[in-house]
Amino acid sequence: MPVKISRVPLLATLAAVVSAVVLLAVMNPLRQPEDVGAFVDAPDPDRTTAAVVDPGPDGPAGSAPSVRPVPTEAGPSDSPPPGGLPGATSAGTLPPVVDHGPRTGNKVALTFDADMTDAMRYQLRSGAVRSYANLKIIDLLEREGVAATFFLTGKWVEQYPEVTRRLAASPNFELANHTYGHLAFTGDCYGLPRIERRKMTGDVADTFDIVAGYGGRQTRYFRFPGLCHDRTALAELAPLGLTVVDGDVVSGDPFATAWRPIVRAVLDNVRPGSVIVLHVTEANAPMTDEALPHILAGLAERGLEPAALSEVLGTA
Ligand SMILES: [Zn+2]
Repeated sequence: MPVKISRVPLLATLAAVVSAVVLLAVMNPLRQPEDVGAFVDAPDPDRTTAAVVDPGPDGPAGSAPSVRPVPTEAGPSDSPPPGGLPGATSAGTLPPVVDHGPRTGNKVALTFDADMTDAMRYQLRSGAVRSYANLKIIDLLEREGVAATFFLTGKWVEQYPEVTRRLAASPNFELANHTYGHLAFTGDCYGLPRIERRKMTGDVADTFDIVAGYGGRQTRYFRFPGLCHDRTALAELAPLGLTVVDGDVVSGDPFATAWRPIVRAVLDNVRPGSVIVLHVTEANAPMTDEALPHILAGLAERGLEPAALSEVLGTA
């Protein structure tokens, strides 16, 4: 049935074109610097752009299975009480928002966001994109024994349970929360679809539960998609006893076409206590693994040492 077969790529192309148009419509050059980084972080438009720019020699061969993997080792009931975890705050109070630690000492935090939206999953399943899990980054961090913190979306964890197990198994990696499906928590967040207010608390709570099932170095750190938040969003998360973590060094790695600007953005702005925002989403941030060795070398030259987020935000 040639007609049926030809519909799939046609549909994918159509979706990509429509998304690219939407992306152009939402791009706003007047954004604040922090928002620019956030924009980079936005998954939907970004992902689609990548598909357009890079039609993908990889093809459907690399497409991910459509099965929704579920962490089976442990359930939410095995989660430790959040009170003792790094980032835990008093439930019921407005969560603190931090973007760096004390400017003393020599510690900095490498943080990697793992975005995943329905649109991204479609890209995987259609074969337009090979992977949103950059294993080269994890390989390098493990090989060099570098500490890092991963902000995971629930849908990314469901897509990559084996990679999540690997992250949780490392004593150098902390795990944090980046929402379930990377929806916007404010009305104007780079064109990301917006979550209903009444669903905010459950979305973030469910993601903590999903991540908790993997054990390892759990935290109560949370990062909003696109770093977009307002008082309403913070109030909705108050029951969860968490700390909101933005970042003071935005690498601009999403959709980068060269590694040098990423390295420059990090090394020109990093200071003791900095929280560096990077992405582990391969297809959406294809240069990050190439930039990382240069970032690590530059940090070492400056006498700065990557450490887990809890160490950077702590009392050091
Ligand atoms: Zn994100």
